Order: sequence, then C-alpha cells, then structure tokens
Amino acid sequence: MRDLSGRTALVTGGASGIGAAISRDLADAGAAVIVLDLDASGAARVADELPEGRGSALGEVDLDDPVAIDRALQDLTNQRRHVDILVNNAGISAVQRFVDTDPASWDRMWRVNLRAPMQLTHALLPAMQDRGWGRLIFIATDAAKVGAGGESVYGACKAGVVALGKTLARESARYGVTSNTVCPGLIDTPMLRKNMDEVSGVIEALTKTIPLRRPGTPEEVSGLVTYLASEQAAYVTGQAWSVSGGVTMT
Ligand code: NAD
Repeated sequence: MRDLSGRTALVTGGASGIGAAISRDLADAGAAVIVLDLDASGAARVADELPEGRGSALGEVDLDDPVAIDRALQDLTNQRRHVDILVNNAGISAVQRFVDTDPASWDRMWRVNLRAPMQLTHALLPAMQDRGWGRLIFIATDAAKVGAGGESVYGACKAGVVALGKTLARESARYGVTSNTVCPGLIDTPMLRKNMDEVSGVIEALTKTIPLRRPGTPEEVSGLVTYLASEQAAYVTGQAWSVSGGVTMT
C-alpha cells in the first residue's frame, strides 16, 4: 500500500533538511522524484543519492521569482514529465518581532512561502484532475495553527498554505486528488540551526516545552508525507497534521 512505483513526485526545497528526507523516502517507496531547489548542487547531490533511475534535479530555481517558476514548469513540459505528487516543501523563515519587520521582507516571505506553492499547484493540478489521481502535500508549520512569537509574517503565510490545502481538498476530491498539509514543530534541520543558533540556549529552552522532550528529525516528517502520498491515505484529505512531539494538540 506504500508502494509508489509508477508515480512521479516533485519536491520543492528538496536539497536540504525536511525536503531531502521527503525525496529519499518517496524514492524508497518507488516514486520517481524531481528535486527542485535554488541550490543546484544540493539538488543534484540528493537526486544522485536516490535509488538508480529514480532521482532527477531541477536546480537553481528561485521560488521567489514567478518567471523562474514558469521556466521550471516549461522544462518539465519539454521533458514530457507529469507530476502525480506535488510536495510544496520549500520555505524561508525569520525570527523577528512584527514591529521590527519591514514590507520588503513581507513580500519575499509571501512569494516563497505562499505564492510559489499557489503557482506550482495552479499549473500542475489540472493534469492531476484529468488523470483522476493526485496528491497535494503542503509543508506549513505549527505556528500557522497556534502562533509563535517572532513568526508573525512567516506564520501568516503558512496559515494561508493551510487554508489553500483545505480548499483544494474540497475542490479536488471528486477528481481523486487529495490535499493535506503537514505542520512541523521543532525539527532539527539547517533552517532551525540558522534561526536559533544566534540566541544561545534557545533550542534547549524550547525543547523543555515539548512533551516528547526533543526536536524531531526530518525523517519523522517524511514518513507522514510518504503515507499521505500513498494509496493507503486515499480517504485522508483536507487535514493539517502536526508533527511536533505533542506541543500542539488541537
Ligand atoms: P532548510 O532550510 O533545511 O531547507 C529548505 C530548502 O528550501 C533549502 O534546500 C533551500 O535551498 C530551499 N529554498 C529556500 N528558498 C528557496 C527559493 N527561493 N527557491 C528555491 N528553493 C529555496 O529548511 P527545513 O527546515 O528543511 O524546512 C522545510 C520546510 O519545513 C519549510 O517550508 C519550513 O518552513 C518548514 N518548517 C520547518 C521547521 C523546522 O523546525 N525545521 C518547522 C516548521 C516548518
């Protein structure tokens, strides 16, 4: 039931952290995986490490730039590749009090975290609906559900992602396309280290608020993503799943 052979997945932000783990897990389940990232060498490295014939890279695609996204989509069309499983994982974050943020940073945050998933989904969903099978999986954050100090703009964009995922679940169910969102809590990745390393002791302090008393691993997120992509999850749609060690129990 976890077998994804014959399916093609596109994973954005697949060069690092959670996206790399998702790419590996989907490929282990048999899917062909297209690793899309701004980081071309990272995307190529992850794609090369996947089982023979299952990995390919779409590198140097800047999701901050709608024209670059269109170019990447055109590359897929030229290669006659369709996408059955779209994992909108790439994201950027910054920890800053709202009063200290500026509109330029809001725009970048919204383009990468919300507009890019919209643009990719808008382009790829019609063909999934035509084929009668598809999986939309969005990676948001627990901050989208419950708020988190310093993450107002990021959390607002990700809350938009949650709403997008739910709405698409309603609109696409009749076509055999499910749509779910995964909301990680504290996951040990380069993004977490970059955001938290500046303030010493913050990871340790946050860890004390987690019932499971540790940050999660990228693989603990990718396991759920692979399940949601599978046949086993055909009756699961429109949900926002927390993977947060129990921090949020909504
Ligand atoms: P990461 O920084 O390790 O990886 C993110 C990847 O996205 C990188 O490979 C990066 O090159 C790529 N990327 C960033 N901006 C891009 C752009 N403009 N165009 C193309 N690619 C771009 O981060 P991660 O921790 O693995 O995060 C993955 C997702 O999980 C993100 O959406 C993030 O918001 C979410 N998330 C992470 C955590 C956590 O604790 N790590 C918590 C909640 C949500």
